[in-house]
Amino acid sequence: MKHVAPIPAESQTGTSGSGTTAFHGAAEPALEIRGLQVRFPSDQGPVSVIDGIDLSIAKGEILGLVGESGCGKTMLARSILRLIPPPGRVTGGKIMFDGVDLLGLNHERMRPIRGDKIAIVLQEPMTSLNPALRIGDQITEVLKAHRPLLSQAERNALASDLLEQVGIQMASQRLTQYPHELSGGIRQRVVIAMALVCGDVRLLIADEPTTALDVTIQAQILELFTRLQAERRMAVLLITHDLGVIAQTAHRVAVMYAGRIVEIAEVNQLFDSPRHPYTRGLLLSLPRRGVGLPKSQLPAIAGSVPKLSNLPSGCSFYDRCPHHLEDRCQVSVPALEETRPGSWVRCHRWRELPAFELPADVKP
Ligand code: SF4
Repeated sequence: MKHVAPIPAESQTGTSGSGTTAFHGAAEPALEIRGLQVRFPSDQGPVSVIDGIDLSIAKGEILGLVGESGCGKTMLARSILRLIPPPGRVTGGKIMFDGVDLLGLNHERMRPIRGDKIAIVLQEPMTSLNPALRIGDQITEVLKAHRPLLSQAERNALASDLLEQVGIQMASQRLTQYPHELSGGIRQRVVIAMALVCGDVRLLIADEPTTALDVTIQAQILELFTRLQAERRMAVLLITHDLGVIAQTAHRVAVMYAGRIVEIAEVNQLFDSPRHPYTRGLLLSLPRRGVGLPKSQLPAIAGSVPKLSNLPSGCSFYDRCPHHLEDRCQVSVPALEETRPGSWVRCHRWRELPAFELPADVKP
């Protein structure tokens, strides 16, 4: 496993808490989410897509958020940016950023934060780029909106400088090209440059930023994230379904399932001794070194993520969990409990589960 530079020790340790209100605090948080609830109406009544999430990201930290599709990861990112698609809405909680609760801001006050202080990079670069505009025009348009006092010459120089910062060679030539003339990897670098164009981004949300790329390019883009995060001391929320990406990049990892956090730990601890059966299942689904099995033949967690409108009673993972016990796991939703400093798990049985060892040939 590749290790990234550690964040300061005080930023990795959570304050203690109990029950579902436990707070996984950071000494110098860039972002603090407390008790976040997001609901959508449905014929069966309101459905919680985010159910009481507490999470913090320290300044200079890369926090990985992992889970299968449909677990609520993207909805969490959208909540931070105040971009929940209607008719969904935030029904509770706080999202503190720079001493302000983002959920209390109107759209006028939220707009400069989005892009200036909090930026997002999405999975598919073409969804962020306008196919009809040259790369240079797209970057300078963003600058025009956020830095209206700059001259066009200053904007052009900044755009070129930014492309170089994200590792694009022949930057001035690239500025004159259209997105379709670039490879997928270069397009994603351009999107990252555009996300950082305003210079004062304190939190970068990267939602599956490498999923659409091949493995070699994926490694280069992850390296770029790590470098930019360290140079700028940004906080990064790295959303992915791939624990291999987390292993290469993140300091801490939060595992999400059915709208709740089920495990949080410093990344090496999570790989060394995962506590939650869901985390263990994700780890066992990682590719094996030298085996070369196609993805469809890797061991997978049985079943699929339950419909949020029809969760099992008690633990949401009950139907897929090899360790479930009817008389305990169906009785109540497990609380998030601290298992050791900085590590938390939501499982009634975490103390008694057999020890877990990651097979030696698993390659995160
Ligand atoms: S609470 Fe029970 S069902 Fe849920 S993860 Fe733990 S052992 Fe499995």
